[in-house]
Amino acid sequence: MRLLLVGPPGAGKGTQAQFLAAHYSIPHISTGDIFRANLKAGTDIGNQARVYMDRGELVPDDVTNEMVRLRLEESDASKGFLLDGWPRNIAQAQYFDGILCAKNISMDAVLEMQISDAQIIARLSSRRTCRDCGKPSQGEKCGACGGELYQREDDKEEVIANRLKVYADQTAPIIAFYRDKGLLLTTPATGSVADITAQAIALLSK
Ligand code: AMP
Repeated sequence: MRLLLVGPPGAGKGTQAQFLAAHYSIPHISTGDIFRANLKAGTDIGNQARVYMDRGELVPDDVTNEMVRLRLEESDASKGFLLDGWPRNIAQAQYFDGILCAKNISMDAVLEMQISDAQIIARLSSRRTCRDCGKPSQGEKCGACGGELYQREDDKEEVIANRLKVYADQTAPIIAFYRDKGLLLTTPATGSVADITAQAIALLSK
């Protein structure tokens, strides 16, 4: 299964990606997670990405595309993958087409997760993330690993507005790009996590 998740920040792509990747036994490749791991480790990529991430803007395509190209070369991606957060503009989608073409493979589906702006703002401004494992969680400590929770710089209200604008201007056009290729499936991103996963799997098995 080669799958791509598209949706605005806060649609729950990361959460659904974990369940879907486990269901199909494929690696979950999240560019946001890879960038955050690089930030934490203080690598060159992390240092280049920091200023864009803190403002809610896209990291330049040359940095991002090369990072994903290398990730897709890893052996676990040979049996399929779930991409979460990339491609995020038309230039990245065209670059991805080039990778698929060179490997002589194609995508199975692009799953769009739909949610209103008001729900996104409510979700993201109250979201807390674990400093250790990177998963979203509620309460005092991380529910998954007990780590300390923090508010991502880009989950602050003024940055959320910019991320929504970047999504509308740059990312939303890839929905039509994949619709034209006959790959697009759309599911509402509201309701319980389990229901959304079940709906997604039902759509993908049609
Ligand atoms: P996310 O966790 O997917 O919301 O990503 C967090 C941040 O990482 C984004 O706001 C961007 O600054 C950066 N980022 C993630 N994916 C991409 C991408 N495909 N292209 C450019 N920047 C990205």
